Amino acid sequence: MPANILLVEDEPAIQELIAANLTRAGHHVLRAGDAETAQRMVREALPDLVLLDWMLPGMSGIEFARRLRAQERTRAVPIIMLTARADEQDKIAGLETGADDYITKPFSPRELVARIKAVLRRRAPQATEDAVEIGGLRLDPATHRITGAGRAIVLGPTEFRLLHFLMTHPERVHSRTQLLDQVWGDHVFVEERTVDVHIRRLRSALEPFGFDRLIQTVRGSGYRLSHEPS
Ligand code: CA
Repeated sequence: MPANILLVEDEPAIQELIAANLTRAGHHVLRAGDAETAQRMVREALPDLVLLDWMLPGMSGIEFARRLRAQERTRAVPIIMLTARADEQDKIAGLETGADDYITKPFSPRELVARIKAVLRRRAPQATEDAVEIGGLRLDPATHRITGAGRAIVLGPTEFRLLHFLMTHPERVHSRTQLLDQVWGDHVFVEERTVDVHIRRLRSALEPFGFDRLIQTVRGSGYRLSHEPS
């Protein structure tokens, strides 16, 4: 499954090179030349990962990372810092602001793609192709198949993404706003009740197989996927 990667890099040639490699690796790349632009883009839609240059005109990469970590909405977005400095102290400073990984320029495209994959697997499993299974319900993003008790379950694309996100983040309550951010990619232009409509569709598709009980409503808070009775 392709990840939406926000690339914040002020040097056009490097930005172009990285974007081309990530696109080739199957990702969707959004580009910003400075942290201020990146901040506006994040406000509109939450990316799966931020690839962040340390030295930027205006707000620095470190400061931007700090701001992402300081806000509830953006706290969990994985960040990989890019830097020209190989200094160990800088590396520590980068990781202390909450970056998940740190790559020193120059790096090979292959290394970058591998690091992104590792960080996504750890921090954003919904953006990877790994199959997930909970209580006999299995979802395989690579083949786009869902099976329950040995039978195929067919879902619409939004219900598929919704179930994938819930299965990769089980036992946690997600608000409608969080689900819009994570599953739809934005929370600005879609109404919150859209979430309820798709949850309802998801439940009715799972119902004949008895898996609708996994999708629980948490009154006043949102939804949760749980193996435990609510
Ligand atoms: Ca730079």
